[in-house]
Amino acid sequence: MLENKSAIVTGSTSGIGLGIARALGRAGANVMLNGFGETTALERLCRELAAGSRGRVAYHAADVSRPAEVRALVAAAEQAFGAVDLLVNNAGIQFVSPVEDFPEERWTAVQDTILNSSFHAIRAVLPGMKRRNWGRIVNVVSVHGLVASPFKAAYIAAKHGQIGLTRTVALEVAETGVTCNAVCPGYVLTPLVEGQIESQAKVHNLSRERVIRDVLLAAQPSKRFVEIDEVAALVVFLCGDAAKSITGAAIPIDGGWTAR
Ligand code: NAD
Repeated sequence: MLENKSAIVTGSTSGIGLGIARALGRAGANVMLNGFGETTALERLCRELAAGSRGRVAYHAADVSRPAEVRALVAAAEQAFGAVDLLVNNAGIQFVSPVEDFPEERWTAVQDTILNSSFHAIRAVLPGMKRRNWGRIVNVVSVHGLVASPFKAAYIAAKHGQIGLTRTVALEVAETGVTCNAVCPGYVLTPLVEGQIESQAKVHNLSRERVIRDVLLAAQPSKRFVEIDEVAALVVFLCGDAAKSITGAAIPIDGGWTAR
């Protein structure tokens, strides 16, 4: 379905991004992986993905919180595959603190990694997409792009910003073959969330099971984690031709969280 298309998935060495990279590869796309990791583990990951992919797999180590490295990532994908047709802005970090104690450098790091990286990547891929009159940009946002929770000021501000960026870009390219959408998952069990389970268990002196049920999934009516493969399947759908009229959308995949 995505044969002859080439993708960049930022933050694809772990969690949701890795699931999206696998699914795009299975659908036939060439995939440029990106994210942090130890060299041997990254080499193993590239081999494993290539074996399960119908397209080619490459890796670039850009720290996407740095604009010049985002530009280098896009240039490397264009060089490796000839074009970037699909951009998935997925890299993200979290930091939890009351707003008045929020460390300034953590605020900046979250904005740079989530929101500013998306801007710089979109800015770099759009000219090529517009020239070819075809492109798909999917921003992996969160329910926290649509609603708030306490103590996550930087993350929630960045995620709301990503939705504003999504809508603006969609309007700017609406008459071309390029779409720009946001997917908004509820809680997905990934290393990012494992970290939150551990810290919440410590802070509240609760068991892992209690933290999952009473803290994390308290607002998620389905009372189960969204699965990585469900998010990946939605992204693959948005990248296909059947989704060509879906643009500027912020699509919840959240077990009913935002239905309240
Ligand atoms: P994760 O920690 O498992 O993976 C994050 C990935 O981003 C890793 O590959 C990491 O190396 C990469 N990364 C982090 N900083 C980077 C940087 N500066 N440059 C390049 N790569 C960087 O996290 P995840 O849970 O899979 O989250 C992925 C995305 O999904 C994030 O944007 C997150 O906000 C969003 N999200 C997650 C959940 C959830 O419950 N897990 C819910 C909604 C949205």
